[in-house]
Amino acid sequence: SERSYIMIKPDGVQRNLVGEIIKRFEAKGYKLVGLKMLMVDRGLAEKHYADLSSKPFFSALVDYIISGPVVSMVWEGREVVKMGRTIIGATKPSESAPGTIRGDFCIEVGRNVIHGSDSVESANHEIGLWFPEGVAE
Ligand code: ATP
Ligand code: MG
Repeated sequence: SERSYIMIKPDGVQRNLVGEIIKRFEAKGYKLVGLKMLMVDRGLAEKHYADLSSKPFFSALVDYIISGPVVSMVWEGREVVKMGRTIIGATKPSESAPGTIRGDFCIEVGRNVIHGSDSVESANHEIGLWFPEGVAE
């Protein structure tokens, strides 16, 4: 079954949104198959966002991701990559619909609470990066 890498970013953890976010994915019908809380080192954050390394906001993005603990998760279920992005909402909070996580809980693109893989290929890559110890079948 399809899997996605979902990460609650430092602002989401600091604002006590962990339970709310897990609740939304569970309520939709997805299964939590991997979960851990960790402080991210710069190298891992840079690898995770390597595709954005030429963007002007890249160093601010990496600083943000390493600014406090994150909650790393793997969620499983039908079309979880695409639906996960729908549940999360658009990148810019000004464009994310009410009812989505970003639409409901944030106002700044640089502090947008949560990450979700944008394709099945990137999900598989990100799960390998964040869970090198593996995720149970
Ligand atoms: P994520 O990969 O974190 O799930 P996304 O796929 O919606 O977000 P990306 O284009 O992959 O969006 O950008 C990664 C992150 O970089 C965004 O979530 C946001 O925090 C930050 N970001 C994107 N665009 C900007 C911008 N114009 N200014 C500042 N930060 C930005
Ligand atoms: Mg992205």
